[in-house]
Amino acid sequence: MEKTDILSLSLSELETLLVEQGEKKFRAKQIFQWLHTKRVFDFDEMTDISVQLRQRLKENFCTKGLFVQKRLESAMDNTVKYLYRLSDGNYVETVLMEYNYGHSICVSTQVGCKMGCRFCASAIAGYVRSLEPSEILMQIYETERDAGVRASGIVLMGIGEPLDNYDNVIKFLRLISDKDGNNLSLRHVSLSTCGIVPRIYDLAELKLQLTLCISLHSADNDKRSEIMPVNRTYNIDELIKACRYYIDRTGRRITFEYAVIDDVNSSDADADRLAALLRGLNCHVNLIPVNKVKERNFRTARSGVADFAKRLEKRGINATVRRTLGSDIEAACGQLRRDAADQGRNGGADN
Ligand code: SAH
Repeated sequence: MEKTDILSLSLSELETLLVEQGEKKFRAKQIFQWLHTKRVFDFDEMTDISVQLRQRLKENFCTKGLFVQKRLESAMDNTVKYLYRLSDGNYVETVLMEYNYGHSICVSTQVGCKMGCRFCASAIAGYVRSLEPSEILMQIYETERDAGVRASGIVLMGIGEPLDNYDNVIKFLRLISDKDGNNLSLRHVSLSTCGIVPRIYDLAELKLQLTLCISLHSADNDKRSEIMPVNRTYNIDELIKACRYYIDRTGRRITFEYAVIDDVNSSDADADRLAALLRGLNCHVNLIPVNKVKERNFRTARSGVADFAKRLEKRGINATVRRTLGSDIEAACGQLRRDAADQGRNGGADN
């Protein structure tokens, strides 16, 4: 019989399973706290649990670990990028960032991505599978252990499209914020999506406290479809309608991410369109210089982001410029995994 992945279970699911196995219900909370509060994953170390129960736990449950395959530390700003090997040999990336107020961890939600955004390295190495809740969670637990820190914020902005792995991502969010476990307020979590419209409506109904970020990158349907194929399925009008619904339903402001790309989306006409699209919407615009990806020739001129911010300001739209972290360690998502996947294809010959 295949063992159950215990770190993907909510407390109530664990209670149900243990009771079915003839155990007392309160044992579940003890075990849940060992896992999520004390971060002890070896059943033998759960000392307030009888030897017999520990034995049964070992027979029925497993914890899938992550292994640090590579760790790149930025010499510029303390950003650390991890390439983690999953239990099935696949790789994902996780980034630890340091801000004045604390640490933030950027996690992956899938091995690769199906969305095919033209400027994104994650699209290049291909899609393999979605991550389990425990595999998203363990990126945080393992990074915190390795770095000896507790993150004050989590961003779902690594490899993958979170809303294309909706159920597991929601389960992860419930786990990370469980009062009996890790207890992180979802106010400190941001979820970024390329715009899977039906799932934005689903998410709105959950009324979570998280910050929803929409990767917009262009306010023009033709241009957006060119750089983000998802726009051919859910166009800008449908996306903004869903955002409006989300804001009304949750009372929460949305962040629009906009990577400023020379000759693509940073002209006066682009600023006009963006300002017209977002006027009156309870939102915030985050401008990002595009990270260079070696297979693509998208770039942002040195003054490109500040210039575009000024253009928006003139049109009454406030935008912040996202600080670039870890630019010396290929912190753009997907680059390490793509390299690891390439080496795998070459039999690791150039290791
Ligand atoms: N799939 C989700 C989350 C992962 S990408 C999404 O699309 O939002 C996280 C953010 O990085 C997105 O806004 C994405 O558009 C952006 N991004 C991807 N590649 C980039 C690059 N080369 N330069 C700048 N931003 C990039």
